[in-house]
Amino acid sequence: MAGPALSIVNPATGSTVVRLAADGAREVAQRHAAARAAQPRWAATPIRKRIATIERFRDQIVAQGETLARTLTQEVGKPIRQSRNELKGLLARLDFFIAESARVLREQKVFADATQNLDERITHEPLGVIANISAWNYPYFVGSNVFIPALVAGNAVLYKPSEFATLTGRHIADLLHAAGVPDDVFVPVIGGAPAGAALMRQPLDGVFFTGSYATGATIAAIAGKRMIKVQLELGGKDPVYVCDDVDAKSAAAAVADGAFYNTGQSCCSVERIYVHEAIHDAFVDAFVAEVKSYRIGDPMDEATYIGPLARRAQLDVLRRQVADARRKGASLLCGGSAIKRKGNWFAPTVLADVDHSMLVMREESFGPIIGIQAVADDAAAIELMNDTEYGLTAGVYTHDAARARRILSRVHAGSVYWNCCDRVSPRLPWSGVKHSGIGLTLGTMGIQAFTRPKAWHLRSA
Ligand code: NAD
Repeated sequence: MAGPALSIVNPATGSTVVRLAADGAREVAQRHAAARAAQPRWAATPIRKRIATIERFRDQIVAQGETLARTLTQEVGKPIRQSRNELKGLLARLDFFIAESARVLREQKVFADATQNLDERITHEPLGVIANISAWNYPYFVGSNVFIPALVAGNAVLYKPSEFATLTGRHIADLLHAAGVPDDVFVPVIGGAPAGAALMRQPLDGVFFTGSYATGATIAAIAGKRMIKVQLELGGKDPVYVCDDVDAKSAAAAVADGAFYNTGQSCCSVERIYVHEAIHDAFVDAFVAEVKSYRIGDPMDEATYIGPLARRAQLDVLRRQVADARRKGASLLCGGSAIKRKGNWFAPTVLADVDHSMLVMREESFGPIIGIQAVADDAAAIELMNDTEYGLTAGVYTHDAARARRILSRVHAGSVYWNCCDRVSPRLPWSGVKHSGIGLTLGTMGIQAFTRPKAWHLRSA
């Protein structure tokens, strides 16, 4: 049975770009069967040939970069310069995987003893057929973190792009196929939640999910019963603490960018700010001036910094957070409501005098809104930074390296930042604690994540 039709809507205008047929349960089962049949041949292909396909994919990304950037902007509303940045960042990730994979996945001899005729080795076996269920906010980043190392390791990948980034997902599939990855080894599954649910009903060998905690919890429950590998990269409520020894103006500019880049729709967007009371007022003034300077408008315009929200439903989440905060005594310093134009627009919003009784400091906002809270000292800041269900990233701004280390070592988060924020490196593992997820991608560990180690005990006589 075919799935429901899928409308691709431009979030900047509200108009439908195209309507597509989503995959139904039968198509998803057929795609799984094809991938299952093709995977052993792919796994038997020498790794250098698998890596060569990724090198050709990289060439295609370079050659078609502008078209890809424009498609991304059209369907998720990401300002065009930020779409280009995402593609540039993708190249750096591809370079990392191309350079490191063969070494990291090589067979390891861990012990040899001639007197016992004993040899011990580890090989890294592909998991088999995996699902990659993905989010829309950085489709090239969150997708490639999974499908590139998974393919290089010899897995077949059933890739479900978000229904909000379907055209980008189809571009990715076309380019991988053109680069030499067989059609039934990298297999797109098109659709929304029903297609994802149909995918989860297949006898998979692993599931790698990026998205919200709510969906991640559903997926983990299904995977748990089947005893298959599950990795979840979920949401965050990422804090930054600004100490009293920094220049308020430059810290404000950097942290505002961390909060509002991609219109606040990054998993590692700054979502809560704590400022030492000694510089609180100067920081807030500089922060609001910075936010008011942001150019809001057509995401295809080169000068635009703030675009629309990808999902219309998120406007209500932001409205509710603003109303709740104001009712509980927060000061609204700018923004605070949807912008009246076609599409999904919300004015960049800064709330001060907030506290942890307010939704804006507790639930993921995933939009252009931020709360700023004054703190008396480092101990209070650490306590507040850890007072969350999430644990993706956390940052501190200070000139004092020892102070930063002291604070960051006590914060519960997968990534910690000193004098920076909203940053991902291909060389470092990307992971979350608590409701931000389990498992990891990126770094050399994020290459091995798509394999299972096989232990070889070899006695020659
Ligand atoms: P989402 O949970 O709504 O959707 C994610 C994916 O799951 C989509 O492809 C969707 O179609 C699919 N899906 C929905 N219901 C399903 C079901 N029942 N079974 C199977 N699949 C289903 O999340 P989203 O709106 O796409 O992404 C936003 C969230 O992702 C935010 O919370 C953000 O913080 C998080 N995120 C995290 C990271 C990270 O690295 N930790 C990166 C990007 C985004």
